[in-house]
Amino acid sequence: MAVERTLSIIKPDATRRNLTGKIITKFEEAGLKVVASRRLRLSQADAEAFYGVHKERPFFKDLVSFMISGPVVVQVLEGEGAIQKNRDVMGATNPANAAAGTIRKEFAESIEANSAHGSDAPETAANEIKFFFRDLDIVG
Ligand code: ADP
Ligand code: MG
Repeated sequence: MAVERTLSIIKPDATRRNLTGKIITKFEEAGLKVVASRRLRLSQADAEAFYGVHKERPFFKDLVSFMISGPVVVQVLEGEGAIQKNRDVMGATNPANAAAGTIRKEFAESIEANSAHGSDAPETAANEIKFFFRDLDIVG
């Protein structure tokens, strides 16, 4: 398994409840290393562009409103099979279906306010990392 990089976002529901440290600990305990990190507030245009793939979905407008409702922490995670590993640590999109011990099972408030985002494939990971970080900002 190759060393990969993936994009993580700690979402506004989690920053609001001061859960960033607990969530980062889950990544670190799974062997993922934070190699870039920034706290920021997304603009509406940023959130619409980032989630552009979902623009025809019925939940798109609400998702954008939620993602701009407070600060987020965007991070690059690095490790063996980091893309899938991050998805495993996050758990299923709907916390009702998420496995015990996952971020979404332990922390998510709802299917929308589900505490974390993680890239879903190598190409999306590369594009999502570029959306937030320059190469110089990522230190492995
Ligand atoms: P994931 O984040 O697990 O990759 P998706 O890419 O399908 O899930 O959806 C992106 C985000 O949109 C989810 O993390 C969640 O915040 C929101 N979302 C997905 N499905 C729904 C839904 N049925 N109702 C409300 N929000 C949703
Ligand atoms: Mg997704």
